[in-house]
Amino acid sequence: MEIAPSLYLGDWIPRTDLEGPGQRAALFPAGCSLRCSGCCNPHLFTKKTQQLISVSEILQRVKSVSDIEGISILGGEPLEQAHALGEFLSSLRQETDLSVMLYTGYTMAEIKREEDKASVLEFVDVLVDGRYQEALKSSRRRYIGSDNQKLWLLTDRYMAKDFGGSNFTEFRLNKREFRILGYPIP
Ligand code: SF4
Repeated sequence: MEIAPSLYLGDWIPRTDLEGPGQRAALFPAGCSLRCSGCCNPHLFTKKTQQLISVSEILQRVKSVSDIEGISILGGEPLEQAHALGEFLSSLRQETDLSVMLYTGYTMAEIKREEDKASVLEFVDVLVDGRYQEALKSSRRRYIGSDNQKLWLLTDRYMAKDFGGSNFTEFRLNKREFRILGYPIP
């Protein structure tokens, strides 16, 4: 019997407009071996057993959110779970028309050298690649944290979209938590 793939998911936000075009669900897979100095999400460096969730459950969560145009996948480092991520995105593509934006610390050249990571790209519309480099941090390009990173349009879905402008930060406060989304201003 084949075991259904599961993903270590550290966090998710059903709806935000800070992590890509339009309103999107944001997923934060856990685990990252790259450990960039100054990373915004060091609490996601290590996977925890209780974070393991089946791909089908994550899919149901995303599908339960109304009026979003896509999902953004941040991290942690999503491509360090390339197999489960690919399974998830394949199902997402079959069952929805949601767009996919992926943020990774690996460069495009590094991704293309590894078959499992490269195979995920067929499901991605927009990719932001490269390590976060604190010395090059910047908020002047939308969705980009440091000047070495690049934004790639891998399909024609957002070819007409203007990705210009600067970054934003959002603060969310409710009874249980205080959360910072987007790009903390240097
Ligand atoms: S790749 Fe991303 S999640 Fe990993 S350390 Fe760098 S900035 Fe943080």
